[in-house]
Amino acid sequence: MRRTGFVWNEKFAWFELQAYGGIVRGGVDSMQPDRHVYDPEVVRRFRNLIDATGLLKKLVDIPARLATGLEIGRVHTNGHINQIKIMSSLPTGGEPGDNAPVPSGAFEIASLAAGGAIAAVDAVMSGEVDNAYALLRPAGHHSRPDRSMGFCIFSNAAIAGRHLLDFHGVKRIAYVDWDVHHGNGTQAALYNEPRALTISVHQDRLYPVDDGFVDQIGEGAALGTNLNIPLPAGCGAEAYCAAYDRVVIPALQAYRPDFIIVPSGFDAGAMDPMGRMMMHSDGYRQLTRKLMAAADELCGGRIVFLHEGGYSRWTVPYFGLAVLEELSGVETGTSDPHLEYHKALGGQELLPHQIEAIDAAAANVARVPLPA
Ligand SMILES: [Zn+2]
Repeated sequence: MRRTGFVWNEKFAWFELQAYGGIVRGGVDSMQPDRHVYDPEVVRRFRNLIDATGLLKKLVDIPARLATGLEIGRVHTNGHINQIKIMSSLPTGGEPGDNAPVPSGAFEIASLAAGGAIAAVDAVMSGEVDNAYALLRPAGHHSRPDRSMGFCIFSNAAIAGRHLLDFHGVKRIAYVDWDVHHGNGTQAALYNEPRALTISVHQDRLYPVDDGFVDQIGEGAALGTNLNIPLPAGCGAEAYCAAYDRVVIPALQAYRPDFIIVPSGFDAGAMDPMGRMMMHSDGYRQLTRKLMAAADELCGGRIVFLHEGGYSRWTVPYFGLAVLEELSGVETGTSDPHLEYHKALGGQELLPHQIEAIDAAAANVARVPLPA
């Protein structure tokens, strides 16, 4: 049993985007406006499943708070912060970035999500909890220092990381982003930062289509501290486990971080509307075990999961339950009703072209700088 913190605020689900068809703006001649794919019911149902299984009562409630301008400003430009403030104050909101609408009131909710990420790492640093899951919305990992992107307003994970480095004085942190999309915002915010190892495991050229390549390895003093593992569409749990065994875990063991942050999107799940991967709840359970073992070995178990994407109202809650059961060591006895179908999908086994992609990323592990 571990003390596991949980960050949730109902206001996260009030970040509501409208009038889209998938990721395409409504109002296009040929596109009937639809409910936006970034549906707040996904995180609400995740939270409710944790409650209904009895697990929520065994977790430590960590209240989210508003991140300050100073904290957000460690990652984002004043221009970006001010633009979000202005759009957010308009009754109709606005859309200044790429695929990132800013509804009315978004500034406060995005600040609460960034502050929730900070609260989660603070609770681990103080020893109040051993690890934590922050169920945040809006997500953060696409947001770049100077603009919002991909449903993300502020880069929650980079802001929490900067807080660890600049406020707590932590020497080295590492990110393992398992969202099906590339963690381009976290990469951009920390590309020159030798104190942060940023790893992203994602579907090759899904979003952004022009980022997330294996040859992006950081620059200057931070050369070797960015690791992209772009996987071909169709990878199942075996390919994901192989990517962790051959690239992610060896990179963490080389870098020896003092704290691990997992930008945790569940859109690599089989049947997610936004990704074309085949992960299932057992797969997420296995990856969580691998990351927790690395955290135990390297940094006293200090690991925090910050929620990112995931678009299936039906499957995401069960993926989240599996991760939280592993983090806390509590078995709820609730089984995932989708698991047998997901496991039976053809192509779950590790395939030759997937090995090729994993090997290409593994070549960069030797460039990860060792601690001084
Ligand atoms: Zn995603």
